Amino acid sequence: MNLFRPDVQRIAGYMPGEQPQATGWTKLNTNENPYPPSPMVIEAIQAAASRGLNVYPDPLATRFREAAAALFDVGPDWILPANGSDENLTILMRSFVDPGELVAYPYPSYILYETLADLQGANHERIPLNTDWSWNPDRTREIVDRAKLVFVPNPNSPSANRWPNSELARLVPPEGVLVLDEAYEDFCDQPHRAGILQSDDGDRIVITRTLSKSYSLAGVRFGFAIAHPDFIAGMRRVKDSYNCNTLSIAAAIAAIEDQEWMLRNTRRIRATRTRLVEQMRVLGFHVVDSQANFVWATHSDGGHEGIYAALKQKRILVRYLKFPDADSGGKPLDGLRVTIGTDDEIDRFLACLSKLV
Ligand code: PMP
Repeated sequence: MNLFRPDVQRIAGYMPGEQPQATGWTKLNTNENPYPPSPMVIEAIQAAASRGLNVYPDPLATRFREAAAALFDVGPDWILPANGSDENLTILMRSFVDPGELVAYPYPSYILYETLADLQGANHERIPLNTDWSWNPDRTREIVDRAKLVFVPNPNSPSANRWPNSELARLVPPEGVLVLDEAYEDFCDQPHRAGILQSDDGDRIVITRTLSKSYSLAGVRFGFAIAHPDFIAGMRRVKDSYNCNTLSIAAAIAAIEDQEWMLRNTRRIRATRTRLVEQMRVLGFHVVDSQANFVWATHSDGGHEGIYAALKQKRILVRYLKFPDADSGGKPLDGLRVTIGTDDEIDRFLACLSKLV
């Protein structure tokens, strides 16, 4: 007897990248930041722990909202903190989508959107991207016009390209919500600060950000949404009462207040990114121009899965991804997504890769 809801029985569940628990791996597979968080974060966690964990945290993480609001030049009621961006994506789905309504997202992009839509009993449709990762205007319009919720990761994953906001502002559904999942925005050459929320349909756009990547806090689990206060107030009704904990709130406040630390690390990662892209191209890979902390690389000879496996034997982990329904010149699309590590890690990766191609 299977007691699970049919929607739960049907789905496979989202499969995150491998997290080996042993040491000695060069880990370039889950877009983590190779540099540690600000020392102020560690101090803040220690201080918060010694102040007492017996009481519940501030349910609205007010001090964090004030700090984030100042950074984005909005009021604190425009910010919704969450247990990672993924939680905000779940909150958005539960806030806006009834079973049977349409959720749309570009394909290939972040696979989690599909899993969340399935769990909600929603219909979902992929907006097929062109092979150069641009939008097909007619097809896109046709799908967006019917959607209740549209998710767009920008920069996109796995491709790492960034679409201009002027293009994305047109993807707000006539009777729905556009979510811009900006997990990687801080790695752009010119990151934006939520100005798109002031555009014509900006009151139906939600931006999601995370501290997992640029602030080096993947282990802490903290993200936040930015949107019109009416949206944030509604989403608060859906979230768990205490969705962020005392330690993660303390860490997040310290991290966002140390902008210098984050900017220094993202600058280093961008410099390493330039080098990695150049050298992979020398090795014959096609590498999409990246605005994120990872690159998407394909080789005309294929063999991506074999390269992934050979690197793994050398204890170098990258992400092999396959998109069976994406067309890449008559074949399904597959390739390697490589996170930008430290210079040493990238040198090790390139040395190994050069022997494989
Ligand atoms: N959005 C995208 C596009 C991502 O790649 C990720 C990381 N897997 C997330 C959201 C989730 O971020 P978080 O760690 O804040 O849950």
